[in-house]
Amino acid sequence: MIQPAGTTLNDLSGQPLDCLIVGGGPAGLTAALYLARYRRDVLVVDDGASRAALIPESHNYPGFSDGISGEALLDRLGEQAEQYGARRLRGRVEALRREGGLFVAHSDGKSLHARRVLLATGIVDDSPDLPDLEYVIERGALRYCPICDAYEALDKKIGVLGRATPAAKKARFLRTWSRDVTVLATDAPEPALAAELARTGIKTMAGVAGLTREEHRISVRGINGEMHEFDVVYPALGCQVRSDLAREMGARCDDIGLLLVDDKQKTSIDGLYAAGDVVSDLHQISVATGHAAIAATAIHNGLPGNPR
Ligand SMILES: Cc1cc2nc3c(=O)[nH]c(=O)nc-3n(C[C@H](O)[C@H](O)[C@H](O)COP(=O)(O)OP(=O)(O)OC[C@H]3O[C@@H](n4cnc5c(N)ncnc54)[C@H](O)[C@@H]3O)c2cc1C
Repeated sequence: MIQPAGTTLNDLSGQPLDCLIVGGGPAGLTAALYLARYRRDVLVVDDGASRAALIPESHNYPGFSDGISGEALLDRLGEQAEQYGARRLRGRVEALRREGGLFVAHSDGKSLHARRVLLATGIVDDSPDLPDLEYVIERGALRYCPICDAYEALDKKIGVLGRATPAAKKARFLRTWSRDVTVLATDAPEPALAAELARTGIKTMAGVAGLTREEHRISVRGINGEMHEFDVVYPALGCQVRSDLAREMGARCDDIGLLLVDDKQKTSIDGLYAAGDVVSDLHQISVATGHAAIAATAIHNGLPGNPR
C-alpha cells in the first residue's frame, strides 16, 4: 500500500534507511524489490507521474504475450516489492544533500536519512498543444516511442511532429513499419533534407499551425490553412530530464541532462545511483528494470554486510 503524503514515518526517525529510492516507476519499484529481497531497509518516495502509467497497453515487455497496461504493470511491481518489505510513500522529494556519511532528503516537511540513494525519476515528454492529450494517447493516436509501439502502427498513416532534423530522424526509423510517413516540421526544413527524405519515400509538411483531435485520428493544420489527417502522430519535441536533484548536488550529466553513470549505475557522486529513463535515451521498461537490478545489487554489495 502506498502511504499517502503527510504520513509520519516514525520508524524512520532513529535508523537511517539503507536506501532511499526517489521515483516509483518500473526502475524504482524493481530496485525496491531487489533491495527488499537483499533484506535491506528501503523506502520508495514517488509523486505519481510515471511515464509507464500512460501506456495503454504494452506489447513489447517480455512475458506478457497478450499485452499489459502500464498501470497494471506498476500495480504488480509495487505489490511484489511490498511483499518483501519495501515501503512506499506518496510525495515529492524536493531537495537532497549529503550530511556526514548520509544523504538527507526533504519531502513534504519530512527529513529522510539514507546511506544510499537511487534516483529513478525518469523524464517528462514535451507534448504538442492538443486538447484531450490523455484521450489521444489512450487511443493510440498520439504515440511517443516507436521502439515501444510502432508495430501497432503498422501500415498506418503516420506524422512525426517537431523540428525538421529530429523529426526526420524519427521518420526514417518509422519507415520500417509504414510507407506513409510525413515529417510535420515546425520549422523550415533545409531543401537538401526535404530532398533526401523524398528519396526515402518520406513526405514533408513545412510549417504546422496546430493539431486537433478527430474521433480516432489527429488533424494537422498547415500554416497556409491546409488540413491533413493522420492515424498516428509521433512527437519529436524532446523531453525534460528529471535529474535536478542530482545536478544540484554536482552530479555529472550529458547535454540534455541525462545522468552519467558507471557500469554499476553509480553517478559521479559517491553513494548516489541512478536508473531508468533519467540515465538512458533508450526509454524502455526492460532497460529501466535492468538498470535497477544492477544498481540494487551494487548498492547491497557496497553496504556493510547484513548476515543472518
Ligand atoms: C505513451 C507511452 C507508451 C510507452 N510504451 C512503452 C512500451 O510499450 N514499452 C516500453 O518498454 N516502454 C514504453 N514506454 C516508456 C516507459 O514508460 C519508460 O521507459 C519507463 O516508464 C521508464 O521507467 P522509469 O522508472 O525510469 O521512469 P518513470 O516510469 O517515468 O517513473 C519515474 C517516477 O519518478 C517520479 N518522480 C520524479 N521526480 C520525483 C521526485 N522529485 N520525488 C518523487 N517522485 C519523483 C515520477 O512521478 C514517476 O512516478 C512508454 C512511454 C509512454 C509515455
